[in-house]
Amino acid sequence: MTVPRAIRKVWRSRPTIEGAGVHLKRAFGNQEVPLLDPFLLLDDFRSDDPSKYLPGFPWHPHRGIETITYVLEGNVEHGDSMGNRGDITPGDVQWMTAGSGIIHQEMPRPKNPEDGFMGGFQLWVNLPSSRKMTDPRYQEVQRARIPEVEPAKGVKVRVISGEVGGVRGPVRDIAADPEYLDVRLAPHAVFEHPVKRGHTAFSYVLQGKGRFDLDSGIVDSENLVTFHDGERMRVEATGENPLRFLLVSGRPIREPVAWWGPIVMNSKHELEVAIEEYQNGTFIKRGGRRVPPT
Ligand code: FE
Repeated sequence: MTVPRAIRKVWRSRPTIEGAGVHLKRAFGNQEVPLLDPFLLLDDFRSDDPSKYLPGFPWHPHRGIETITYVLEGNVEHGDSMGNRGDITPGDVQWMTAGSGIIHQEMPRPKNPEDGFMGGFQLWVNLPSSRKMTDPRYQEVQRARIPEVEPAKGVKVRVISGEVGGVRGPVRDIAADPEYLDVRLAPHAVFEHPVKRGHTAFSYVLQGKGRFDLDSGIVDSENLVTFHDGERMRVEATGENPLRFLLVSGRPIREPVAWWGPIVMNSKHELEVAIEEYQNGTFIKRGGRRVPPT
């Protein structure tokens, strides 16, 4: 018999202003370190008011982490110091390993000018000290490449990373050995899933209500659920509406965290070096050089 994971703590995401004035909801961030190790931050940027997201996230550096952007509606226009340009469109995932450093901008745009709704999620995953200065890398995954699996009646899972019912997601070779699932349950449907023992796991509820273990209460949308250790999860959609949630897990890094805005290293000294390099123009290393536009 495998050990089910019990809920550790549940809390609601908090209204936060980021970038050049984007109003979003933060499920967790630097206040929670090291509770979610290896995960550092999860932002929910769903909004129907363009004035709250159009300011966007103009040019800024990242070092020492990976940022994972999952777009549900609208576009995120992305550009970086390597000369890459592109849109992250609905259903797409951009898994960006910043490593030694990229400088980029991320600008949310509505689906069309008449309908102001746009939205998605950004997750930050920490890198271990041995990989903080690795070359930058993107895994850009278009919607069609993300498999959707139906492991049980009334259960649909988009597998971004990890494995469900023998189907593996397209994002691979990530330091934290993460699983990233977008799970939809019909009313009263039940999702049971193994989660590796020793890995940190959380769920974030996108819509509907559900029960995330056998003994705790019902969790509402825009709430984060953290779990004790164990080997499997059981989630049930309660109420008359469908339940949709993200289920994410990964191997903890257990190293000191030194965090300054978009840069996360192991020591204050490494942060000072990064800030100095950003200011004197030597922040971008091998593999991250700007290439001229073609
Ligand atoms: Fe960024």
